[in-house]
Amino acid sequence: MTIINENYLKLRAGYLFPEIGRRVREFAAANPDKDIIRMGIGDVTQPLSSAIIKAFHEGVEEMGNKSTFKGYGPEQGYDFLREAIATNDYKLRGVEISADEIFVSDGSKCDTGNIQEIFGNVNIIAICDPVYPVYADTTVMSGKTGICQPNGYFDNIVYMPCNEGNGFIPELPDTRPDLIFLCFPNNPTGTVATKEVLKLWVDYAIANKSIILYDAAYEAFITDPSIPHSIFEIDGAKSVAIEFRSFSKTAGFTGTRCAFTVIPNELMAYDKTGNPVAVKPLWMRRQTTKFNGVSYPVQKAAAAIYSEQGKKEVKELISYYLENAEIIRESLAASGFQVFGGRNAPYVWVKTKNNLTSWEFFDKLLNEINVVGTPGSGFGPAGEGYFRFSAFADRENVTKAMDRIKLLSF
Ligand SMILES: *Cc1c(COP(=O)(O)O)cnc(C)c1O
Repeated sequence: MTIINENYLKLRAGYLFPEIGRRVREFAAANPDKDIIRMGIGDVTQPLSSAIIKAFHEGVEEMGNKSTFKGYGPEQGYDFLREAIATNDYKLRGVEISADEIFVSDGSKCDTGNIQEIFGNVNIIAICDPVYPVYADTTVMSGKTGICQPNGYFDNIVYMPCNEGNGFIPELPDTRPDLIFLCFPNNPTGTVATKEVLKLWVDYAIANKSIILYDAAYEAFITDPSIPHSIFEIDGAKSVAIEFRSFSKTAGFTGTRCAFTVIPNELMAYDKTGNPVAVKPLWMRRQTTKFNGVSYPVQKAAAAIYSEQGKKEVKELISYYLENAEIIRESLAASGFQVFGGRNAPYVWVKTKNNLTSWEFFDKLLNEINVVGTPGSGFGPAGEGYFRFSAFADRENVTKAMDRIKLLSF
């Protein structure tokens, strides 16, 4: 008899995006003449820029020549990419991160999940509510939680509600967690964290010997110079934080796959007797055992983001989505909605009207104006009554969708 990993049975069904898909398919089948605009799933729509594609092609050509062919690459990623990251993403912002603290990977989704493997299951994890579902589900899979209660909360997870009252910024929890997931600019609320907010968390982690797992997948959308791009811009953070970055949203790599994780040399966790243990070598051991790196052409394409032309193109790409976000914000506000986020971030978080639930609002939008967004309740109980609009869409569709929003009556 083969016994499965019982933790998987604790998971709730992957409900959100399949359910959105089901409702949209049903509506489309019943209304084949309707032009449905999708602003739901957080996936980019614009192609890879020309500097990136050129490097990608060159990488492929090199793989086809005996003299430039490459087999397995260096374990943490090619030096040319890690050096470019260390210089451009950190040194130029006044942060000293060395290339040997950077691990190139095929995605932040897997890194944020896999990282839990190197930490014991006695650890208590804190996550925001609403939240990117990956943090919660991978915590459950790893065996660090109890069962899911009818209110949607798992036993042994510390939930940090983010709501209008706290400006969608989590407050320091009453129960001390060992690992704290933070994501800024935030998915799904589109809020950003100031230096003061991050300093509060870093100081808390230092005082409590906790570790912050900082997801900065959307840092490229920050245009306000006072907002930190990296948690390592905060004094002391290198002793208490791991940072996850991805080229997915920065440069349209969702289908190309390249990301990286930064684990500072000085980051320590503890063994059972309280002796400090360096975290980086454990992640190195994990990755070299279970992962064989990102393909050479993809790393070469990623490095092109840091070329002069690449930087310019990425900036244009980000501006395009940020302008979408601004159009969404303004249109919704003009129609009397309460809007949050959408500045320095590609997501606009909106409060429904007339106390409609997130799913009631979803159905109203789909049925009456044929626009698809994401119900806030799908990101956690505190998301109920909210709705996420994604700026990852074509401009034409954004303006069309926003014109239709004006037609809604409540
Ligand atoms: C899109 C996204 C990522 C990036 O995931 P990849 O696996 O690198 O594509 C990471 N974190 C959040 C919160 C995201 O929304």
